[in-house]
Amino acid sequence: MKNRRENFLISGIVLIVFGALFSLGVNIAMGGVVGLSGIICFVIGMSIQSNMGLSPQAVADWKPSMEMLPDAGRFMYRVDVTMDEPIKSTILCGPCGHLETVEGPRPDQYTCTSCNRLLWSDEEE
Ligand SMILES: [Zn+2]
Repeated sequence: MKNRRENFLISGIVLIVFGALFSLGVNIAMGGVVGLSGIICFVIGMSIQSNMGLSPQAVADWKPSMEMLPDAGRFMYRVDVTMDEPIKSTILCGPCGHLETVEGPRPDQYTCTSCNRLLWSDEEE
């Protein structure tokens, strides 16, 4: 989800730059079309941002699909790690819906502080 938004933003910037180059060097009409596409991509990228993040609504939207995932014997969870400093991991526990924020990147293993279920352990495999 996060990557998709960035792809739109990067595509937008690239298209705007190409549009400017086309306008100067090749064809102003073509440059205009490419530049406009870039702006549209950029706007789409920005609008995706407003739907992102762990707002209560996003958590509520996420839960139904979680139940549909065929996963036997393991608890469902979701981890979001920030891209920028300070690095923080937001962990959403599937079984109880508890949201926990921990400092640093995704830990090797994590036990939900609310329901004490082991959500994952990288050392198992
Ligand atoms: Zn839990």
